[in-house]
Amino acid sequence: MTELAKIPLAGVMGHPVAHSKSPQLFRHWLDSNGLAGHYVPLHVSPDAFETTLRAMPGMGFVGANVTIPHKQRAMELADHVTERATRIGAANTLTFQQNGEIHADNTDGFGFLENLRQNAPHWRPEGGAAVVLGAGGAARAVLVSLLDAGVPRIILANRTRSRADDLAQSFGPAIEVIDWADLAEALPEGVSVINTTSLGMSGKAPLTLDLSGLHKDQVVTDLVYSPLETDLLRAASKAGCHTVDGLGMLLYQAVPGFERWFGVTPVVTPQTRKAVLA
Ligand code: NAP
Repeated sequence: MTELAKIPLAGVMGHPVAHSKSPQLFRHWLDSNGLAGHYVPLHVSPDAFETTLRAMPGMGFVGANVTIPHKQRAMELADHVTERATRIGAANTLTFQQNGEIHADNTDGFGFLENLRQNAPHWRPEGGAAVVLGAGGAARAVLVSLLDAGVPRIILANRTRSRADDLAQSFGPAIEVIDWADLAEALPEGVSVINTTSLGMSGKAPLTLDLSGLHKDQVVTDLVYSPLETDLLRAASKAGCHTVDGLGMLLYQAVPGFERWFGVTPVVTPQTRKAVLA
């Protein structure tokens, strides 16, 4: 039997954190792999973040996910930061090493890409442009992963254009910024179309864009997963596009953390989706 003191703990630190689906996801993977372990939601205010983080290894935590508003601070406090987290400018997966040091990674881009690879296997990143809506935190991870995957050109539009311009400045000439008002016209150019804004999410503003430019040769994905079928995905399906919902990104981004903390590579299955949606 596993010694109680050795049962690994992990969790998600956020403010707020009650909405997080990660505890259900990790419980499902721990149970389905027959592993001892616990994964808990940790409601931590920005003031308490550093103290809490530094106390966790001594309490038996092997790692933690971090979400809004701690993603940048987590990276600053870490002893080692992966290259992809540095480029994204935020961390979402922390691992506490034996010597107490904190290793920080960002797996959002990995989760985004893996979701597309698994659910749109015919999509070839190098096959043409991507049209990306939004220039917030999630967009940074999406842009880095698209560039790393070999997407040759990214057409980027954001309501606040200056934020998109900043991203183009950081990530180079493959990113072509257009005005939000010109988005409808640019839509047909994308081999993939990706919504990284919160438009269309339950409780947020709807996406009111003219979507008549969508066509059947496109892969369309939405980072919003509540609702699962957003207005964008519904319109894209009607236009004959291949659609991929945002839940898979949430599931795949958690794979590297689970693997590091609990020693088993978890598999994303229809049951995993069910467990998280329950
Ligand atoms: P964020 O940093 O706050 O960025 C929000 C983005 O939405 C910005 O581009 C913002 O444009 C845009 N936006 C908000 N309201 C708008 C409006 N009324 N009209 C036009 N644009 C608007 O948020 P985030 O962390 O990037 O997250 C964005 C979405 O992705 C959220 O819905 C989040 O739940 C989802 N997400 C999903 C996953 C997943 O695993 N599936 C992972 C991360 C995030 P401005 O710059 O003009 O404000």
